[in-house]
Amino acid sequence: MSNGSFPGGDAPVSNAETDPTTVQVLTARKVPLGGPRAMTVRRTLPQRSRSLIGAWCFADHYGPDDVTSSGGMDVAPHPHTGLQTVSWLFGGEIEHRDSLGSHAYVRPGELNLMTGGHGISHSEVSTPRTTTLHGVQLWVALPDEHRDAPRDFQHYVPRPVPLNGGHARVFLGTLAGDTSPVRTFTPLLGAELSLDPGAALTLDTDPDFEHGLLVDTGDVHLNGTPLEPAALGYAAPGHRALTIANEGPETARLILLGGPPFGEEIVMWWNFIARSHDEIVQAREDWMKGDRFGEVHGYDGAPLPAPELPNAPLKPRGRAR
Ligand code: MN
Repeated sequence: MSNGSFPGGDAPVSNAETDPTTVQVLTARKVPLGGPRAMTVRRTLPQRSRSLIGAWCFADHYGPDDVTSSGGMDVAPHPHTGLQTVSWLFGGEIEHRDSLGSHAYVRPGELNLMTGGHGISHSEVSTPRTTTLHGVQLWVALPDEHRDAPRDFQHYVPRPVPLNGGHARVFLGTLAGDTSPVRTFTPLLGAELSLDPGAALTLDTDPDFEHGLLVDTGDVHLNGTPLEPAALGYAAPGHRALTIANEGPETARLILLGGPPFGEEIVMWWNFIARSHDEIVQAREDWMKGDRFGEVHGYDGAPLPAPELPNAPLKPRGRAR
């Protein structure tokens, strides 16, 4: 059915790349994670029209899932290289074990930042006391000079910072006068925002940063552009402030991401980030045969085998600054 007009046919063509006032809406696609407990996530990064926001290169949003029907999360030991993982929960609890020897519980409002660097492996299992699983899994690409960094695991619990009509939990970088002490390899912003019904606020932002606002709940508008739940609104560099409004009757919960444009091309495949197809081939081989990624102790089960590589060479994502 057609109403006889093309979408946007009469409106001026806008481009978030060049117009700092425009918000690009990145909608989520549903991705089944596979395995015995088949969780489905809503993925907003990477996608065709955008690979990175700062060094943020992967954003999965999931839940709220009733674990009595979904079975919860049970991800067997698997490797990572060239990236950091950020686990941030809204609800539930995940037991984390890694080849550094870390054994930690990921809980709502608590940052767990794992540095894969040259190579790490880890398992993630929701705990028996978890009834609802709800949160985000984010990846940060490491810049070339640090992508072989030693494996690391950092835990941090940000205090809520009051905003005009809500509060923020700043887990990475600086926002609303609060700064996370957690080390990163490129400038980054990561924060959970909570906005009261009807709240509208203006947050000062670094104009060198590009930003992404991921909506968990609420009737949210970023610089006037409406964002559906699970969508990611993108604002290009050049903003000294962002205006965020919650026009709905429920509290809005959001994740704000930011950083200067990454400026390096990356090759992403499975759980690896590299700079070339050949490096990915090597990482896969090292996982299947070598000891590069170390061993996870205490997980009940076998490590995940790597999938087969595609026949075609993997293509780099991202773009020059
Ligand atoms: Mn992982």
